[in-house]
Amino acid sequence: MKKDVLYIVVPCYNEQEVLPLTTERLRDQLKTMVDAGLVGEESRILYVNDGSTDSTWQLIEGFTGQHQEVCAVKLAGNVGHQNALMAGLEVAAERADIIISIDADLQDDVSVMTEMVNKYHQGCDIVYGVRRQRKTDTWFKRNSAKAFYKLMRRLGVKSIYNHADYRLMSRRAVNQLMKYRERNLFLRGIVPLVGYRTDSVYYDRTERAAGESKYPLSKMLSFAVNGITSFSIKPVRMVLSLGVIFTLVALGILVYVLIAYFSGRAVSGWASLILSLWFIGGCVLIGLGIVGEYIGKIYIEVKDRPRYNVERQILQ
Ligand code: UDP
Ligand code: MG
Repeated sequence: MKKDVLYIVVPCYNEQEVLPLTTERLRDQLKTMVDAGLVGEESRILYVNDGSTDSTWQLIEGFTGQHQEVCAVKLAGNVGHQNALMAGLEVAAERADIIISIDADLQDDVSVMTEMVNKYHQGCDIVYGVRRQRKTDTWFKRNSAKAFYKLMRRLGVKSIYNHADYRLMSRRAVNQLMKYRERNLFLRGIVPLVGYRTDSVYYDRTERAAGESKYPLSKMLSFAVNGITSFSIKPVRMVLSLGVIFTLVALGILVYVLIAYFSGRAVSGWASLILSLWFIGGCVLIGLGIVGEYIGKIYIEVKDRPRYNVERQILQ
């Protein structure tokens, strides 16, 4: 019987410091799995170069020359982690039966891939890699991530706690994923929507092996906003409830004004007037901002631009 082919998809953006080590580790892991008969010999490591400005691509090109199991896709520009990952998944889905995505920085334990593949053979289509603890992340990163997961859950977005983008997907799961045609990609939210049989494997997250995080605070924030507004219309509903509450409060004030008028205490309260003016003005602006966020999304979806442009492929 022909063995299932595995593709390990690795998005890379300016990862020259860590790539040699990553390649070594991934090749070792792949070899272990091939030798154990878990996956076929045609299995590959697929690097997606996300418009790096350092020598990442030259390195990758070198690896493809040295090692038969290394393949690469070079995107024409920087499209961001999620889009780069999607590019890799799409290429891999044409050749592989099993696809595992992992970050280039070796923060995720490479060796649990064996367990993931075992779960696949037991019939799972999606296997999440879940971090057991985040001791090595900074206090800020740990807590902001926790708050974010909680908020997402409150807003009704299904996502797996402490799971990033380290996961196994079968070819049919990836094919299904590709039917979600949206441009504001938040894979962690979409993958659970794909359905199919899922399971998780657990590991300890370690520090970045080399180089710096490619997610500065600004990118993290926009990622979080994206995750929420791409999946939930609750913020808009909140504006609506706020509107209802304000109308009720206004009714109360009307009663107060009428009583004041008839009891002859009318010309009162410049302060309260100016206060409510500012307050309501502020609320209107917040409402507009939230609605604007959604209109912005509609705008981008409607344009239906390609997610990325492949410049070159090395597949062997
Ligand atoms: N990455 C990417 N494009 C970007 C930013 C990041 O392909 O614009 C890749 C990066 O090379 C890494 C992964 O996405 O493989 C996750 O990034 P990083 O480890 O810096 O994020 P963190 O772990 O700090 O959240
Ligand atoms: Mg990382």
